[in-house]
Amino acid sequence: MTRVYSFSAGPAALPLPVLREIQDELLDYQGTGMSIMEMSHRSAAYAQVIEDAEATLRRLLGIPSSYRVLFLQGGATLQFAGIPLNLMRTGHAGYVVSGHFAKLAWQEACRYGQADVLATSEDAGFDRIPDLTGIEAKAAGLDYVYICQNNTIFGTMFSELPRTGATPLVADVSSCFLSTPLDVERYGLIYAGAQKNAGIAGVTVIIVRDDLVDDGPALAACPSYMSYRRQVDAGSMMNTPNTFGIYVCGKVFRWVEEQGGLEAMERVNRQKAALLYNLLDQSEVFTPTAEPASRSIANVTFRCATPELDRAFIEGARERGIEGVKAHRLTGGMRASIYNAVTLEAVEALVAYMEDFERTQRSH
Ligand SMILES: *Cc1c(COP(=O)(O)O)cnc(C)c1O
Repeated sequence: MTRVYSFSAGPAALPLPVLREIQDELLDYQGTGMSIMEMSHRSAAYAQVIEDAEATLRRLLGIPSSYRVLFLQGGATLQFAGIPLNLMRTGHAGYVVSGHFAKLAWQEACRYGQADVLATSEDAGFDRIPDLTGIEAKAAGLDYVYICQNNTIFGTMFSELPRTGATPLVADVSSCFLSTPLDVERYGLIYAGAQKNAGIAGVTVIIVRDDLVDDGPALAACPSYMSYRRQVDAGSMMNTPNTFGIYVCGKVFRWVEEQGGLEAMERVNRQKAALLYNLLDQSEVFTPTAEPASRSIANVTFRCATPELDRAFIEGARERGIEGVKAHRLTGGMRASIYNAVTLEAVEALVAYMEDFERTQRSH
C-alpha cells in the first residue's frame, strides 16, 4: 500500500489511525455482527455512536450547556439557506463578504430577506479579510452578522472576531473547525461541513445557542428538515441521518482528543503554516497570495510567475506523491490545505519539494 501526501481542500485527508479503526470495524461493528452502515439509526448501538460523537465534541470545544449540537446533511451550502430561514426574525441581517463561500451565503440570504453587505474585500480579489472598523455600530438591531471565518479558496482567516454587541455572530467555520480552540460563547451559531477537518462529506455540524432556536424558524416556509427547532427536538434524527458520516466524525473527534485536544492541534497547525509561509516569504519563484495579516493556517495559497510554471510544479508534485496542491479554479495557482490530519512530515515533504523546485528554476 502506498499512500500519498494529500493537501486536498476537501474532501480532505483523514487521520490514518481513524481509517484503520474504520477498516477493523467495517464488517462487524463491536460484536453486533453487522456493519455500522447496515444498522438502524434507531438501534441502541447507533444511539451510542451519535451520543459519543456529541459528547466528545462538547469536551473538545467546551460547548456550554446552553448550546445545541446538530449533525445534518446538505453540506455547508444548505445552511446558506438554513441560517436566514431560521434566524431572520425581523428580516434584516448583515454579511461580511470575505470570499467565494461568504458571497454565496449572502446571495442565498437575499432570497429570504434584506441582507446587507457590511464589509467586503472583493475589490482586492479577496486577498484579505475586509476592514471591519465600525462594524459594531452597523450590527446594531440586525438579526445576525454572518462571517466565513476561514476562506478556503483564498487562504485568508479572521485573526480576530468582529464585535457585534448584542447581535448574534454566525460563522461558517468549515475549513478551520477544530484546528484551533474556539470561544463558542462569542457566537450565536457556528457550522462546518465535516469533509474539511472533521470527518467526511455528507455531515454538517451545527452548534447553536438555544435562545435562537427555541421559537422555531423565523420564516414559516422553512422546510421541516431545515428547522433547527425540529432537529434539536429529534436529536438530528427527524429522518435518517448520515449514519456512517457521523460515525466517522465521532472517530475524528476522539483522535483530536487523543492528540491533546485543540491547543495541541493549533500548535502543530501553526508550525506547519510557518514552515510554508517562511519559505514563501523568502522565495524568488513562489509568491504567497494572501495579505500577511490575513493569512490562514489551514489553507496556504501561492503561485509562480506563470500558469505554465504552476502546472509544472503541480505535475512534479504528483511524481513525488504530493497530491491536491492545485488551487481552486477561481484563483489558479496552488493551495496547500494543511488540516489536522495533514502531518508535519507531509508538510516537510512539500517544503523539500518546493525548495528543490526553486533551486531548479533559479539555475535555469
Ligand atoms: C467547502 C466549503 C463550503 C461548501 O461546503 P459544502 O459542504 O460543499 O456545501 C462552504 N464554506 C466553506 C468555508 C468551505 O470551505
